[in-house]
Amino acid sequence: MKKSVCVIGAGLSGLVCGMRLARAGFEVQIIEELSYPGGLLASSRIGKEYLELLPHHLRKTDRALLSLTKELGISEGITWFDSFWHGLASRKKLGYFTNGFSDLINRLMQEITDHGGTIYYSTTVAEISSNGTPDNKYCTSCVLSNSSRVDFISDYVIFTGSCRSFINSSYGLPISINMKDQLMNITYRSEFCLLLVLKSKVSDVYFQKINDGNPFQRIVNHSNSFGLRSYGGNVVYLVGDCSISDPLWVEDDAKIKDTYFSAYRKLFPGITKSDIKAWRLTKIRYAVSERFPDSDLTEPSPNVFICSSALVSTNSQSLPENRMDGVVALANRICEKILNNVQNEEAPDAE
Ligand SMILES: Cc1cc2nc3c(=O)[nH]c(=O)nc-3n(C[C@H](O)[C@H](O)[C@H](O)COP(=O)(O)OP(=O)(O)OC[C@H]3O[C@@H](n4cnc5c(N)ncnc54)[C@H](O)[C@@H]3O)c2cc1C
Repeated sequence: MKKSVCVIGAGLSGLVCGMRLARAGFEVQIIEELSYPGGLLASSRIGKEYLELLPHHLRKTDRALLSLTKELGISEGITWFDSFWHGLASRKKLGYFTNGFSDLINRLMQEITDHGGTIYYSTTVAEISSNGTPDNKYCTSCVLSNSSRVDFISDYVIFTGSCRSFINSSYGLPISINMKDQLMNITYRSEFCLLLVLKSKVSDVYFQKINDGNPFQRIVNHSNSFGLRSYGGNVVYLVGDCSISDPLWVEDDAKIKDTYFSAYRKLFPGITKSDIKAWRLTKIRYAVSERFPDSDLTEPSPNVFICSSALVSTNSQSLPENRMDGVVALANRICEKILNNVQNEEAPDAE
């Protein structure tokens, strides 16, 4: 009988898992709480282009990710640019797609739907449980935007949100206290990202680190490396850490934009408010995990997997980098494990 999987999250991890299992003949249902796909890699229309709400680029060392782009037939659409990382053209090249990362997200979605998978938007997972479900099945209960509820029954569950959200929605699962504690111990940094489209170029570098004491810590001058394209101006991202207990976290977007822009003007006094042609603020509650766990937490309950950047490695000595390559490699590994399980279940008894 056809196996089924409920994938929670339509970011890069969820779409890669969805594609791999849909291609292998699984019934795939992807649940996404937002009204659009991509997660951290989501794009929005800026001028006449699609552009990521957070700054993204590829590196030549992104093996799993580059191999995925080959598999999807989109590697030809990657151009490698001089990084101008700190102003000088360095040998390190940065990759970017002809139409931005929406090329990657769209191709993954196309593969999923071509193989019979479905993506449900504006649907939030409230609880994953095994109570009252047929043998060895899981029930993922969701809340829709009109507050009604819907249940998805599946053989497998893959959760791609933060470890925190997983714990909050998995109290109906038989997970050991030790495993729960370890998942709860994974803390995250929250971030703001202000995307500005400016009339003119402000600096020559691609990436600039800013000293402490500033509301943002990184400036990414996207257009300096990847060009002006048709955004309608120079694209600059200001990325900053923010604790959710900081009063700024609950301010409205315009106030946060003003705070960031005032600090930006102190660094580049020539710039004025009238130089801003467009802006978008993104708040990221679980931006980057602060340390890896010591042990493998990817399968907290049989056939329930967490595919999250926080679990890419089991080395608490190394700092998580939160790169796309790591989550693609983890998604591949989890799908391989699921497919092996199925193969072993279906193999005739060796007697
Ligand atoms: C500022 C910034 C810049 C970055 N730049 C780069 C870069 O240049 N290069 C690089 O390689 N990586 C970069 N990254 C990292 C990269 O974005 C991530 O590794 C990757 O996008 C993670 O994908 P994901 O699917 O695992 O998680 P996410 O993108 O977070 O996707 C998880 C999805 O699950 C959904 N979800 C969560 N909980 C629920 C729920 N209860 N119900 C329903 N849906 C739910 C969320 O809405 C989301 O869509 C950057 C990250 C940040 C924050």
